[in-house]
Formats: sequence, structure tokens, C-alpha cells
Amino acid sequence: MRLVLVGPPGAGKGTQAVHLAEHFAIPHISTGDIFRANIKGATDLGLLAKSYMDKGELVPDSVTNDMVKDRLNQEDVANGFLLDGYPRNTFQAEVLRAILAEKETPLDAVLELSLDDAVIVERLSGRRTCKDCQTSYHIAFGKSAVEGKCDKCGGELYQRADDSVEVIQNRLSVYAEQTKPIIAFYRGEGLLISIPAEGEVSEITDRAIGALSAAVS
Ligand code: AMP
Repeated sequence: MRLVLVGPPGAGKGTQAVHLAEHFAIPHISTGDIFRANIKGATDLGLLAKSYMDKGELVPDSVTNDMVKDRLNQEDVANGFLLDGYPRNTFQAEVLRAILAEKETPLDAVLELSLDDAVIVERLSGRRTCKDCQTSYHIAFGKSAVEGKCDKCGGELYQRADDSVEVIQNRLSVYAEQTKPIIAFYRGEGLLISIPAEGEVSEITDRAIGALSAAVS
């Protein structure tokens, strides 16, 4: 299964990606997570990425595309992958198509998680993320058992700098202007599957698995 997950910030891509990657036994590749790991490790890439991420802007294509190309050349993606947060504009979508065409491993499907803007702001502004394993929680709808601590690894929970209300608004504009056009791009390629991203996490996962299994069988 070679899969792309697309949807506005806060649609639950990261959460669903973990479940879908486990279900289909494929690696979960999140460009946001790779950038955040680089920020934590204070690498040159992290320093560069942070200046864009803190404002809710996209990291430049040249950097992002090279990073994804390297990742897709690693051995563990031989049997498939789930890309979460990439591509984020039509140029990246074209680059991805070219990378995969060269390897003769085209995408099987693009899953869109759709959600209204008002729900997005509520979800993102209450999101708390584990510093160590990146698991997401919500201060009202998905609390951790112990306040401020990750249920999975005990790591400290924090609010991502880009989850502040002003940055969320910018991320939504960037999504509408730059990322949304890839939905039409993939619809045109006959790869797009859309599902509503509302309800319980497990309901959305079941909906996603059902839609994907039906589409690629
Ligand atoms: P995410 O964790 O997917 O919400 O991504 C967080 C931030 O990382 C985005 O707002 C961008 O600044 C950056 N980022 C992640 N993926 C990409 C991408 N494909 N292209 C450019 N910037 C990205």
C-alpha cells in the first residue's frame, strides 16, 4: 500500500496515520515529525525549518523534496508507505509522482480527511503534543491520564508553537491556497478517496480502512 494522507491541519492526519500504518504494516512518514526531530536535535535543517514552521509557512520545496526523496529511498519503504503532510502543494505532488515513476512504484491511493474550519481551530488550539514520541492529546476531548504527561512514553506534553490561534489562521490560509489544489490534482489522477474526519478516532480509522480496502482491492 503506497498511500498519501491529505487534509487541513488538525484533521487528525497524524493520529490516523499511526493507526493506518499499523493496520497496513507500512512505515509512517511525516514530514512535520522529521522537521520537529531536526529542530529538537538542533541540526541545520531544523534551524531552517523552524523559521518557517513557527509562522505556519511551508518549508521551501527544494529542502522538503530532497528530504522526502532520501526517505523514500530507504529500505523499509520497499513494501509501501504512508506519507503524512507531504505533498503540500502541486509542485511537491509532481515531484513525488516523478520520484515514484522512476522507481516504478506509483501511489495506490490518496486519502483526504475533510473537516470544517471552526472544528479545526477548536482541535488545534487545544492540542498538546508529546515532546518525545509526538503523540497528540486534547485538553478537552482527549486528555492524557496524568496531566502534562504522555500515556505512551511518559514524555512531557507541550503546545506546538504553530498551534497558537494566530499561526493556526495562517496555516489554514496556506492550506486553502497551496495544499487544497492537490486534491483536484489527485482527483484527476483517479486516486482520491475522501472521508469526513468527524467522530471518534476509532470510527474514523474504521471508515478510512473500509474506504481504502474497497478502493485498492
Ligand atoms: P504538520 O506536522 O504536518 O502539521 O507540519 C508542521 C509544519 O511543518 C508545517 O506547517 C510546515 O511549516 C512544515 N511542513 C510539514 N510538511 C511540509 C511539506 N510537505 N512542505 C513544506 N513544509 C512542511
